[in-house]
Amino acid sequence: MPIILENVTKTYQTGEVQTLALKGIDLIIEDGEFLVILGPSGSGKSTLLNVISGLDTPSSGVIRFNDQVLTDYKEEALTAFRRENLGFVFQQYNLLQNLTAYENVQMGAAIGKEPLDVEEVLEKVGLQEQMHKYPYQLSGGEQQRVSVARSIAKNPAILFCDEPTGSLDEETAKQVLAVLEQLNRSLGTTMVVITHNPGIGDMADRVIKMNSGIIENTEIHDSKKSAK
Ligand code: ADP
Ligand code: ADP
Repeated sequence: MPIILENVTKTYQTGEVQTLALKGIDLIIEDGEFLVILGPSGSGKSTLLNVISGLDTPSSGVIRFNDQVLTDYKEEALTAFRRENLGFVFQQYNLLQNLTAYENVQMGAAIGKEPLDVEEVLEKVGLQEQMHKYPYQLSGGEQQRVSVARSIAKNPAILFCDEPTGSLDEETAKQVLAVLEQLNRSLGTTMVVITHNPGIGDMADRVIKMNSGIIENTEIHDSKKSAK
């Protein structure tokens, strides 16, 4: 389901200070698209991701998923929508420390209406050998791949990733990005990824660059699209 943003703004008020974090964003994210959001710190990337995914509400404008107007939803309906349709990956892995990789992914699958097979997902992220280990027994890159597996296990329509490789070295980051690309291709999951990692541009269908609350620049990779 495509996501449609129409003239979306977000203003933060802290005491006397007003910050215009989003200044009227128009954007359509296509079904199955791999969208990357770049831009300097403070340009509005996280705010954009948070309002698209319903973690935060915009100050004005409309956000739609097909014919569902998310900006009309009350908090409860929004939470239900998020649980059912969206997955999240953050810089921190947020794994439960007293559960194995397998059990963490199982928790994710348990939320889904039509979840994926837990072992199959662990295989897709390259952790079939490690699935009975606890988070402390895994490297950072492996933990993040467990985190990706947990989020994808409920089979969300869209996976939102906010700096998923922010804590990883370059080589490990590449492995995590390759996993996201492979999941996008094999499952058709729409990917919306905020990153500083320049290498990820290659696997994106589209790269948008944020600056001071607007989309400053858009780069479309047609060759990637037609290869799908
Ligand atoms: P980025 O993700 O690109 O670093 P953000 O979306 O986090 O940018 O922030 C955009 C702007 O909004 C920045 O000026 C930031 O200081 C401000 N901002 C973000 N979150 C809040 C908040 N909860 N309260 C007040 N200002 C905020
Ligand atoms: P689900 O119920 O499918 O896990 P949620 O919408 O409740 O989905 O949120 C996904 C997870 O992301 C939750 O565990 C939530 O606490 C966490 N989360 C939300 N926002 C942030 C954030 N900015 N940084 C880190 N974790 C977050």
